[in-house]
Amino acid sequence: RTGVAQADPAVSASMDRELQRQRDEIELIASENIVSRAVLEAQGSVLTNKYAEGYPGRRYYGGCAYVDEVENLARERAKTMFNCSFANVQPNSGSQANQAVFMALMQPGDTFLGLNLAAGGHLTHGAPVNQSGKWFNVVSYGVKPDTHRIDMDEVRDLAKKHQPKVILAGGSAYPRIIDFKAFREIADEVGAKLFVDMAHFAGLVAGGVHPNPLEHAHVVTTTTHKTLRGPRGGMVLSNDEEIGKKINSAVFPGLQGGPLMHVIAAKAVAFGEALTPDFKVYAANVVSNAKALAETLQEGGVDIVSGGTDTHLMLVDLRRKNLTGKAVEASLGRAHITCNKNGIPFDPQGPMVTSGVRLGTPACTTRGFLNEEFRQVGRMTMAVIDGLAANGEEGNAKIEAAVREETHDLVSRFRIYD
Ligand code: PLP
Repeated sequence: RTGVAQADPAVSASMDRELQRQRDEIELIASENIVSRAVLEAQGSVLTNKYAEGYPGRRYYGGCAYVDEVENLARERAKTMFNCSFANVQPNSGSQANQAVFMALMQPGDTFLGLNLAAGGHLTHGAPVNQSGKWFNVVSYGVKPDTHRIDMDEVRDLAKKHQPKVILAGGSAYPRIIDFKAFREIADEVGAKLFVDMAHFAGLVAGGVHPNPLEHAHVVTTTTHKTLRGPRGGMVLSNDEEIGKKINSAVFPGLQGGPLMHVIAAKAVAFGEALTPDFKVYAANVVSNAKALAETLQEGGVDIVSGGTDTHLMLVDLRRKNLTGKAVEASLGRAHITCNKNGIPFDPQGPMVTSGVRLGTPACTTRGFLNEEFRQVGRMTMAVIDGLAANGEEGNAKIEAAVREETHDLVSRFRIYD
């Protein structure tokens, strides 16, 4: 019964430092969250010992009675949460969930449409360095230069011209609600399947503050660890029985072996949490906080891509301050405000430098931050940005130190894992 601290002091010390980092910093990475102790406990449980290749009731191993119960709970809760008839909760990650859909619906060499990485798409949506880009013929659509919204005319034109098997909607840095109905109409016009990747906004759908793509899409994937606030992992959902069968075969034995039953237990726990009234309040606060943060930043003199946000995330365009995402990420980091540099649409800088940062509200909303705290975070962020613009990287240490103090005062009022 020896714990990590006794058994492995080196790993334990790093884990302690990471806990302290999470406690001490304002976490604005849009894809991160802070899971409950119940989720942590399920993920760190004895279910990690169990092999369970196959699906509940049809396993290739004995002793699966109790993990079957857990996987059935996760599947049923997922279906209730997203009002759909099929759920596969086994994908080990969002990327593997996406691979499973590609494997189920396409052959190598087939054509699909996806949102350009530069316009907010994800690597697995056809980036040349990713398997999705290497094995399939990718046709990318983008956003309009003036509104930064998806150009649906372009989507329709490309669909008609290239006759894709699959049209993929969703992304990692797109702050607006996507018109799933319009996407489905285009898919139907050309006989394609509509695939929505809701990894980023799934928690907002579960919380009832964002349209549900399952009302229109043939198949939907998500991660479970972003706004949904569960363990790291993926999931595939659908209302189409035939597609469901193909997805099950694609996940196992197509792509994976034994499912991570401890992670599936943690998914079940997180889905249970997402079905409570508290989660509806959480999701509404995530969106309201994002609007408050975006407005404060605009008042401070930076542009927000597309003029604002409908979701949990925003892209800050730093060009008016003559700054790069790389420099701002580093300077905010020294003030213990954590975020990531991110390309903006039509970015003149390369992906390692960028002209933007992506900010999101899911993690600090879990801590209990409301509009007032996010306005304060917006002012602190602007102090760092303006300091950087005025003093340069080397001269900003004083401002960074002052904001770091303010960060510590603020987070000490919203403690985690006490
Ligand atoms: N899809 C989208 C839209 C994402 O933003 C991400 C992760 O950032 C993924 C898929 C991949 O998820 P994972 O990191 O679990 O592979």
